[in-house]
Amino acid sequence: MAVNKSKYSFDFEEYDSIEDLSPTDALLVSEARKATSLAYAPYSNFKVGAYALLNNGSYLKGSNQENASYPVGICAERALLASIGQLFPNEPIVSMAISYDNLNGKSNKPLSPCGMCRQALQEYESRVNQPIRLLLSGLEGKIFIIEQSNSLLPFSFKGDDLK
Ligand SMILES: [Zn+2]
Repeated sequence: MAVNKSKYSFDFEEYDSIEDLSPTDALLVSEARKATSLAYAPYSNFKVGAYALLNNGSYLKGSNQENASYPVGICAERALLASIGQLFPNEPIVSMAISYDNLNGKSNKPLSPCGMCRQALQEYESRVNQPIRLLLSGLEGKIFIIEQSNSLLPFSFKGDDLK
């Protein structure tokens, strides 16, 4: 019996600080960091900000919005995708920066989107047929740049699976 072993991997870039980024990328990261201040996170004290550049040149921000009924809360990434869906339907996203301000501790290493947001991001990419470049960081320190968000969700469940 033949067994085929496969390996999944992806490339990403790692930068020591915001000063090492291009001006556009530095702006995205800086604005995502600022957007953390808009979060409503009285329960987790973990404030997340997201900031996106769209193909049409627009910039939009999002932040996490919690609720006393915890599952009602929404992450910054999906809050931002919802805004884009309303204001610029089907507009591809060039890049999205994500940052956080952890009031319980440090905010100095890159943050990765949660599983639910990875699912939402990869569907947005498929829908508009363009990868979303992710820039991940805390309020300070290293920045990871990933060329397409679906790299973070291998073997994902997709709309085609329902056909
Ligand atoms: Zn999330």
